[in-house]
Amino acid sequence: MREFDYVIIGGGCAGLSLAYELEINDKLKEKTLAIIEPRGEYKRDKTWSFWKVFNHNFADCVIKSWNNFTINIPNSSHEIKNENFPYQSIDSGKFYKKINFKLAKNPNIFFFKDVNKINLENSLIFSSVYKAKMDKTKLWQHFQGIEIETPKDIFDDKILNLMDFNCEQRNDVHFFYTLPLSKNKALIETTWLSNLEDQSLMDYDLQLENYIKNNLHIKNYKINFTEKGAIPLFYPSLKNNDKTIYIGSAGGMTRLSTGYTFLNIQEHSKYIVKNINKIEKIKKFSLGKKYQFLDKIFLKVLKKHPEKMPKIFFDMFKIPSNTVIKFLSNKSNIFEDINIISRMPKLTFIKVLFN
Ligand SMILES: Cc1cc2nc3c(=O)[nH]c(=O)nc-3n(C[C@H](O)[C@H](O)[C@H](O)COP(=O)(O)OP(=O)(O)OC[C@H]3O[C@@H](n4cnc5c(N)ncnc54)[C@H](O)[C@@H]3O)c2cc1C
Repeated sequence: MREFDYVIIGGGCAGLSLAYELEINDKLKEKTLAIIEPRGEYKRDKTWSFWKVFNHNFADCVIKSWNNFTINIPNSSHEIKNENFPYQSIDSGKFYKKINFKLAKNPNIFFFKDVNKINLENSLIFSSVYKAKMDKTKLWQHFQGIEIETPKDIFDDKILNLMDFNCEQRNDVHFFYTLPLSKNKALIETTWLSNLEDQSLMDYDLQLENYIKNNLHIKNYKINFTEKGAIPLFYPSLKNNDKTIYIGSAGGMTRLSTGYTFLNIQEHSKYIVKNINKIEKIKKFSLGKKYQFLDKIFLKVLKKHPEKMPKIFFDMFKIPSNTVIKFLSNKSNIFEDINIISRMPKLTFIKVLFN
């Protein structure tokens, strides 16, 4: 069986981002790469959104960018403006197309559907695939989104709604998220923070239908696209070794308090490529101990007091927007962290911390 210098297991967001970064930095001129990906065809399956806190390789895959967003709780709405860090959405279909077009030109890059078709013995492996079954009793962010199109222009496409808590909470944390992609198209998502055992929370179609009718007051629309997912809000128990480096969600690139992963994957890819010749010897890339610690406490509060979370999120966004965005994108300094921590309900957090 054939051997390769590098093997990427999982040609999704992290696998393809890494392959692209290797390719554009000329690391695959004298090295070979095998990408293992079982899917039959690449098509739009996700919309990746984030605050653009640094430049990334996929500006041409951005379908929309906003400088204004709102957050709503019952009886209150707060509007936030930020010119420094636009909120961007990437169409995964455009992302896959761009990368695959680029990779196809390099004769040193090969695609396989099954890892058993190659010899891994002497390769450096990057894997975005979880081996073990994931624990459904833990906390997850699970959601379904639909892109709807209306016959008339009805959306204000200059402002997105990041979180709308005007909805049933059912003893968990639940909000809707509306991204107006144009004046007559919007991606609307129902999002839950809960375990994955409670099937009753997964009547997503009905939740979306009711929200669109009763909260957005839209009666006439068609659905162009549906996306569905569950992001683990806990770190996978996968450890890098001499031969395998985990990437993507499997490599701990998800920020646990938010589910944001896309930009962390881009940063991780750049780190790997910069250090590719000594990658086994250098420090493992991580989002930072500070955020791991703070997110752990935050999620403990969320689990114990789901009813308090709408107000906690709402109050957090009253802090100057540069600070909140940098904190949620793992780019805050100590003064910004203190600012965020000081706005949290102290007694609740202290009790949970010492429990
Ligand atoms: C619907 C959805 C929307 C999301 N939206 C956002 C967002 O807005 N912002 C954000 O920051 N994050 C978002 N995320 C989280 C995160 O960015 C994505 O999950 C991202 O795709 C993670 O990249 P990944 O490479 O780790 O996993 P994936 O992109 O899922 O890639 C894993 C790949 O491995 C392949 N695979 C599976 N089994 C095997 C196997 N046995 N062997 C080889 N390959 C295999 C799969 O086919 C897949 O292509 C979203 C997640 C989902 C599911």
